[in-house]
Amino acid sequence: MSDVRNVIIIGSGPAGYTAALYTARASLKPLVFEGAVTAGGALMNTTEVENFPGFQDGIMGPELMDNMRAQAERFGAELVPDDVVAVDLTGEIKTVTDTAGTVHKAKAVIVTTGSQHRKLGLPNEDALSGRGVSWCATCDGFFFKDQDIAVIGGGDTAMEEATFLSRFAKSVTIVHRRDTLRASKAMQERAFADPKISFVWDSEIAEILGDQKLSGLKLRNVKTGELSDLAVTGLFIAIGHDPRTELFKGQLELDEEGYLKVDAPSTRTNVTGVFAAGDVVDHTYRQAITAAGTGCSAALDAERFLAALA
Ligand code: FAD
Repeated sequence: MSDVRNVIIIGSGPAGYTAALYTARASLKPLVFEGAVTAGGALMNTTEVENFPGFQDGIMGPELMDNMRAQAERFGAELVPDDVVAVDLTGEIKTVTDTAGTVHKAKAVIVTTGSQHRKLGLPNEDALSGRGVSWCATCDGFFFKDQDIAVIGGGDTAMEEATFLSRFAKSVTIVHRRDTLRASKAMQERAFADPKISFVWDSEIAEILGDQKLSGLKLRNVKTGELSDLAVTGLFIAIGHDPRTELFKGQLELDEEGYLKVDAPSTRTNVTGVFAAGDVVDHTYRQAITAAGTGCSAALDAERFLAALA
């Protein structure tokens, strides 16, 4: 049993690093798979984070994640910048396989693989992320005070983002590729009643314009093919999120949108000894602080589970 770890953590966003910090401080010597491409998680792709408590003047996303990483490492978390490519979570001893094919064993596993916001797939989209292009009104809305903003999407999230943004913005234009919305009636009515919100129907974004900063959008009418310009300094893309749960299908219970199901308010999944936290579970709040909070809960749940085994 000497090669069996107490706990393996999959994912290294705020949820994973917080779980690592807590389990490390509990002397559980966690092994953390950080992911090969985006160690540090979603905040590695943003600029300033103004709403993580404790940083009065804000902090750059990558710096915040570097700090969390160093803090977990300081207490003995073993961090590996690699992907997990397979898991077997069913037995008492769980196995996790890395990209080299090495099989790691543990009594408990914490899943914090996050979720991926859907992208439009346009050339300038990534380059202008954090420079006018955003996926999160709660995170970035404040930066767009008195500005003209576009929101793309036609579901509940798009309506919620638009009505939230209208508190700060000069105007909010919702661009939707159909002539009706998918959003619930109540959300639609709120958006329709908002004097700052207008709609461009049957349209998609043909081009995101701007060099260092977003300067506008080129729209294409999907019925006529006609192109038009929309002068905005903010674009919020609200076309959905995909939780990273491919690895766990058939082993852990997922909800109808593919998020991991937990026995809330605990972080227990349907499999004994497997816990989940952060955006891979959460389709409501999706914030760094909530991910860190549930990462802490998962560590404490795992710690109690392991203590009961001893
Ligand atoms: P993530 O941060 O997504 O981390 C998941 C991790 O899992 C990644 O490191 C990934 O590499 C890893 N992973 C996935 N699959 C595997 C695998 N198979 N093997 C190993 N590792 C794996 N929130 C705020 O509170 N304030 C903000 O200002 C803010 N700004 C944002 C700006 C942008 C551009 C984005 C995209 C998000 C922003 N958010 C903000 C939201 C916030 O980043 C997320 O809510 C938070 O990062 C979720 O944390 P998480 O730990 O659940 O997942």
